[in-house]
Amino acid sequence: MQTITRQMQQDIRLIGKFTEVWCDGHQHGQRQSVELPGGLAPLRLCPVCADFLAYAVMKRSSCPLEAQKPSCKNCKIHCYAASQRAKVKQIMAWSGRRMILKGRLDYIWHYFF
Ligand SMILES: [Zn+2]
Repeated sequence: MQTITRQMQQDIRLIGKFTEVWCDGHQHGQRQSVELPGGLAPLRLCPVCADFLAYAVMKRSSCPLEAQKPSCKNCKIHCYAASQRAKVKQIMAWSGRRMILKGRLDYIWHYFF
């Protein structure tokens, strides 16, 4: 596996957490432990969310703009396929709102989309 930078690790942790909140909140079945790269704590996700997260992690860790990365929100490339991009927006908005309601302001989603 390629090197995971600190910034990648933070981004993966963030998207992973949002995906986990989404999966849990929608009571998806068959949730199981999903390993993350870079020594991050595993998450509990259903197979569908695990696939989605694998896609997001793959995109993030192969970002060609790593060195000068502003944020995915301000990115010129927008490497996600349209359907995945729509889904990540939906997950970030839904889980972001939910975290705010729960007072989890340590997770701020302005970084993504
Ligand atoms: Zn799920």
